[in-house]
Amino acid sequence: MGKQEDFVLRALEERDVRFVRLWFTDVLGFLKSVAVAPAELEGAFAEGIGFDGSAIEGFARVYESDMLAMPDPSTFQILPWRGEGPSTARMFCDIVMPDGSPSYADPRFVLKRTLGRAAEKGFTFYTHPEIEFYLFRDSPEQGEEPVPVDRSGYFDHTAQSKGADFRREAITMLESMGISVEFSHHEGGPGQQEIDLRYADALSTADNIMTFRTVIREVALGQGIWASFMPKPFTTHPGSGMHTHVSLFEGDQNAFYEAGAEYQLSRTGRQFIAGILHHAAEISVVTNQWVNSYKRMMFGGEAPSYVCWGHNNRSAMVRVPMYKPNKGQSTRVELRTIDAACNPYLAYAVVLAAGMRGIEEGLELPREAEDDVWSLTERERTSLGIEPLPKSLNEAIEIAERSELLAETLGEHVFDFFLRNKRAEWDEYRGQVSAFERDRMLPVL
Ligand code: GLU
Ligand code: MG
Ligand code: MG
Repeated sequence: MGKQEDFVLRALEERDVRFVRLWFTDVLGFLKSVAVAPAELEGAFAEGIGFDGSAIEGFARVYESDMLAMPDPSTFQILPWRGEGPSTARMFCDIVMPDGSPSYADPRFVLKRTLGRAAEKGFTFYTHPEIEFYLFRDSPEQGEEPVPVDRSGYFDHTAQSKGADFRREAITMLESMGISVEFSHHEGGPGQQEIDLRYADALSTADNIMTFRTVIREVALGQGIWASFMPKPFTTHPGSGMHTHVSLFEGDQNAFYEAGAEYQLSRTGRQFIAGILHHAAEISVVTNQWVNSYKRMMFGGEAPSYVCWGHNNRSAMVRVPMYKPNKGQSTRVELRTIDAACNPYLAYAVVLAAGMRGIEEGLELPREAEDDVWSLTERERTSLGIEPLPKSLNEAIEIAERSELLAETLGEHVFDFFLRNKRAEWDEYRGQVSAFERDRMLPVL
């Protein structure tokens, strides 16, 4: 038994823990949980806890269904919303097969494998997400438009605001679980909030995002409201994204930083961006995985629709932020496509893989976009070589099906399951007769 396991076993007694929830994530990014009694934990560390993998979305076929959840002791935390003494704790798990090999269906493993490939080249991948979401007055009712908790906008400061009270409670809870929050504010849409997590290695960030989504929903329910990460809940208000700032480190040096270079961005940094742009359309199905994700990226609202980069240009898909004249170790690039309804493990894996390709193949960065790319004409964009991102889940699937990068990064099992599942979602969607069609046609035809 290692030191961390010992620490957990001691904490179980000291904190009077009655239940330990073992968490893992299915292929679509939904959290799964099994509660075990503290007495079972010593065994769980040694041998894992068995479950039926075929009952988890994307995990296994029925004839190879036995799987084991192995708790990761470094992720042990008390769940603050369950009270103290007696209390409830959680740990994230790695999923393994009965022979002890990692499950190829486990998104955490997909990310670890990709991080391992970057580590072989000497790089550590850091991420820092800006997570946006809406707060609504009530739980959703079928067929009805939700009502936001307020009518405020970007950075608004209002007296007795529901949003501010919400953010305060949520952030206090996140911090008590070891998740540091850097900024928080009201976003552009009514009831829309943003909370930005401090940068961390990508595996911790992905775990933190899973925890974040749970905390946000718990706090909302506790306050009698409803939180949603749906990418585009309203036709007329901006959607919710999860812009992610990314950087590579070599040891304790930021590999994206070069003093004196343009925007202080090193060759490695430029090649990384070039890789992301080159593979942007292929990885879109993972960074933006729902039918609804593509509605966020259609009409501006500061969400990208085109494959391009720029410094200080919020219409660009990749932005090189320019807040500080001397960025040094904080040099990073902001990827603006990802939405908060993605599977964060898979999304960070494909982004890293795309960027690494740029480095490995020495890809050249195209010219930066200096204009507001939404206001250019189609012709102007074409002459600048600016391609559109996929306009629908269908387009994204078709491009992804031909992607060798995606197949290699996700692995055959996840790649097949994921695309089959997304194809089924699209087929179901395109068979729906919508209010839009009825409202247009019934009065006149
Ligand atoms: N809500 C916008 C989006 O969907 C982003 C707004 C911002 O720049 O923070 O990406
Ligand atoms: Mg924002
Ligand atoms: Mg941003």
